[in-house]
Amino acid sequence: MKIVVASGKGGVGKSTFTASLVSLLSQPRVVVDADVDCPDLNILFKGKEKLRRKIYASEVASVNSEKCVKCGVCNRTCEHGAISYGNVVPDRCEGCGACVITCPTKAISLVPYSNGELVHVKRQDFDLVYAELYPGNANSGKLVHDLREYVDMTAGDKLQIIDAPAGIGCPVIASITSTDAMILVIEPTKSSFHDSLRMMNVADHFRVPYYVVINKSGISAHVEHEIEKFLELKGIPLLGKIPFDRSVAEDLSNLRVPGLSELEAGKALQKTVYGVKEMFELR
Ligand code: SF4
Ligand code: SF4
Repeated sequence: MKIVVASGKGGVGKSTFTASLVSLLSQPRVVVDADVDCPDLNILFKGKEKLRRKIYASEVASVNSEKCVKCGVCNRTCEHGAISYGNVVPDRCEGCGACVITCPTKAISLVPYSNGELVHVKRQDFDLVYAELYPGNANSGKLVHDLREYVDMTAGDKLQIIDAPAGIGCPVIASITSTDAMILVIEPTKSSFHDSLRMMNVADHFRVPYYVVINKSGISAHVEHEIEKFLELKGIPLLGKIPFDRSVAEDLSNLRVPGLSELEAGKALQKTVYGVKEMFELR
């Protein structure tokens, strides 16, 4: 089974919930940090690095110098200033292929380009797979797709929990496609609610059923009421509510998983994860 944890907006506690969920389950499982721009589960969950390898999620132009006649056609073709008389600046190249078409001597081809690394960490309780984007490189759905493909090939029957990046862009779509359920973490603010509605539209499009967790409950009673009324009207299951609790930030800054705490938010996280277990028949 594959469960993706998502939020339309960043900073609402999605990764906190993911970390608590994966820590409170007991069945064989792998957690995938698909937020390749800024993975953070690897900071919280240390373990033995089982594999680290380059991901080739992009293509860049490559010139066969023996065929290049230094005519300069590629300079004029490239809108990104990524090639000059057959000399390519890979960091600028978008891999669009325009120069491949216009080069009169067919000297240019597209070759795979590595823009990040995949890391597989093994722990006693679960595996963690994440990617690190090289500085200055562009994130892409392809990178997340490759990350997930690796997990599909190596995880076997293990439960997959995917921590999606924020937003509704290509990397998010690559995170939620072909999952069995999406847990949408919403905080009771207008912006989070608004962005969650967009996330629901994406999930509807890809026919992924979704369930909601309200995090930071209590910070705005009227927005929270509005969200709950909406969920009730639409028949969207509310798995639980986690109260706003400063101990969560303290736990995270001390690299402790908030769901393992016996304080108010920790207990609410445990109760919510219990609801998740019941809903999806997990242990
Ligand atoms: S268009 Fe082709 S032949 Fe001309 S400079 Fe560029 S790479 Fe060389
Ligand atoms: S592939 Fe596109 S971006 Fe890259 S050098 Fe050629 S024209 Fe420029």
